[in-house]
Amino acid sequence: MLLAGLTGGIASGKSTVSARLVEHGAELIDADAIARRLLLPGTPTWQRVRQHFGDDILTADGGIDRPALGRIVFASPQRRALLNELTHPPVMAQIADRLEALQAFDGVVVLDVPLLVEANADRSYEAVVVVAAQPETQLRRLVELRGMAPDDARARIAAQAPLEDKLAIATHVLWNDGTPDELLAATDDVAADLLRRARDKHAGADDG
Ligand code: ADP
Repeated sequence: MLLAGLTGGIASGKSTVSARLVEHGAELIDADAIARRLLLPGTPTWQRVRQHFGDDILTADGGIDRPALGRIVFASPQRRALLNELTHPPVMAQIADRLEALQAFDGVVVLDVPLLVEANADRSYEAVVVVAAQPETQLRRLVELRGMAPDDARARIAAQAPLEDKLAIATHVLWNDGTPDELLAATDDVAADLLRRARDKHAGADDG
């Protein structure tokens, strides 16, 4: 496999890109989806989060109220660190399991980690795809498409690693300040490049 990290700021267009890469045959490991599954009611991680954060962060049906939890950890670095301590190790373990299961896969594996830069993940990515949008574009999408209050949206954007830090580790940059079609076309080019590199790598491995 060729291991590609995928990251980008909030509302940058990352989900659009990951879905397109999957259409091109990439295997997607979605850290957020894993985290959501790990927090389903009754799981050990859910249990521990509940113990530390109390029943106020539960919805009526016992699930984790993610917006409520998000507000708490967003307001407090200590609480954020605690939540990370509870959730990161099991997420990392599941990612490791998926990667292990995909060892023999000869295509592209996309590891979608929203906080790839922030988490300083020590994975040996062979490519890092960054979906980039100007902060004004992110703000507009959060307000218009997700109904967020402008001040909240600004605060969320400001809390993430600056775009420059993401661009600094990128091997492929997908700018998404234009139309969705432009993003998809640019993603097709990146997919073609990643697939070519996966094929080359596989052919090289066969030769050796
Ligand atoms: P992320 O996963 O980075 O948070 P999404 O792919 O979900 O971002 O995109 C955020 C929102 O913006 C979605 O509603 C998506 O449909 C929309 N969107 C993405 N790219 C564009 C674009 N180029 N023009 C207009 N809307 C877009």
